[in-house]
Amino acid sequence: MKWAFVGASNIASEWMVSAVRTVGDEVVAVVSGNAERAQDFARQHGLVQALSDQRALVDLEVDAVYISNTNDRHEVAVSQAAAMGCHVLCEKPLATDLAAARRMVAACQLAGVVMSTNHHLRHNSAHRQMRDVLRHQGLGRLVAARVSHSVFLPVQLQGWRIDNPTAGGGVVMDIAVHNADSLAFLLGEYPSEVMAMTSASGMGQGVEDNAMSLWRYPSGLTAFTHQGFNTPHASNRLELLGDQASLEARGVLNQAPGGELVWRRADGNLSLRLDHDNLYVRGLREMHKAIAGEPNDMASGEAGVKSLAVALAVLESAQTGQRVPVRYD
Ligand code: NDP
Repeated sequence: MKWAFVGASNIASEWMVSAVRTVGDEVVAVVSGNAERAQDFARQHGLVQALSDQRALVDLEVDAVYISNTNDRHEVAVSQAAAMGCHVLCEKPLATDLAAARRMVAACQLAGVVMSTNHHLRHNSAHRQMRDVLRHQGLGRLVAARVSHSVFLPVQLQGWRIDNPTAGGGVVMDIAVHNADSLAFLLGEYPSEVMAMTSASGMGQGVEDNAMSLWRYPSGLTAFTHQGFNTPHASNRLELLGDQASLEARGVLNQAPGGELVWRRADGNLSLRLDHDNLYVRGLREMHKAIAGEPNDMASGEAGVKSLAVALAVLESAQTGQRVPVRYD
């Protein structure tokens, strides 16, 4: 399959070019808003084409487009890709508002192409094993979930994310979407309402760099999530707590595979062995299945809309001080 990349971004450079090649596909072109940056990216990764206008892809017979420019520019890129009949893998959050994300999904549906969202964490071995335990009622009745997902945003990424709300900056848009998707993958449901508080602790300039929120699910389960940018040395963990047992995944909420998973039960603690597959490679394999019309675990465009809806509700709750119902349409 031939891919074009829209966005000369860090994530494309660090993970996605090699992931595409690992699954046997090819990256034929990069599109950047800046011609020089496109050329640098193409040179660095050995790509034939460096473009500054996505419409020029029409001559390259591209099958799929990976979109990883800033969040406010995803919609235009997705619409153009869909209009060319290309499958789409778009970064999260899909957009900066729900209507835009919905238009993106509709454009792909109209064009008859697959749209996926790059929620890589669901491809983690720990997530898959936790889901299996849940499916086999291994926790008893599920009571609560806790997600501690506060990181230190690397210095080279401290650009638009920490000072540009228009581009979709802020830790809620960046990380709460992942937490919503991880929990949806595990629980099979999305929250119906949220309550949140955010703060700026010195890194965020005009956007929050720290957020804590409580989410209530239709099943009655409640979840606590913490997302932050300004906490070097914080560990990350995802816990599912049942009335018979619990699961604790430590150090799995990362780009690179790793971490550990413990199943705590009445008869003792059991460490579950994790495979350490590349999450982005696994995601692309799942997207291939989606394109082939096979059952798959890829986050769809619709899943990206829902994770964005949760993040937007978290922001609204923090701004208003109110409990906010999550609106998915
Ligand atoms: P970057 O800041 O690296 O790149 C985003 C855009 O900013 C690029 O597309 C580029 O625009 C522009 N840009 C890059 N470098 C420069 C520069 N030196 N000067 C000026 N502009 C520059 O973003 P990330 O890679 O961190 O994130 C991109 C997208 O991917 C976001 O939507 C983010 O949320 C998502 N993401 C997803 C992850 C995941 O695991 N799923 C992980 C990290 C990010 P242009 O293309 O026009 O040149």
